[in-house]
Amino acid sequence: MNKPDTAIIRRLDESGRLTLPEELRKRMGLLERGAVTIAYRQKTDAIIIQKWAETCLFCGAREGLSVFFNRSICARCLEEFRRL
Ligand SMILES: [Zn+2]
Repeated sequence: MNKPDTAIIRRLDESGRLTLPEELRKRMGLLERGAVTIAYRQKTDAIIIQKWAETCLFCGAREGLSVFFNRSICARCLEEFRRL
């Protein structure tokens, strides 16, 4: 099993809440009230918390995004759709 770069033990409060350690928030560039995605990976029985960044629905690009039917799409993918 791969060791994480950083491991910090924290206890959930009575409502199941968890505070992300300031050190990790700073390292990730997570600003106050920043958004994260929370995913459960059954294979490793792990919860993965990632800084949320808007990405193209189709290719995952983070640059040159437009909104298309309420979803983000990059210029390249949008051009591909125009050719259909
Ligand atoms: Zn794209």
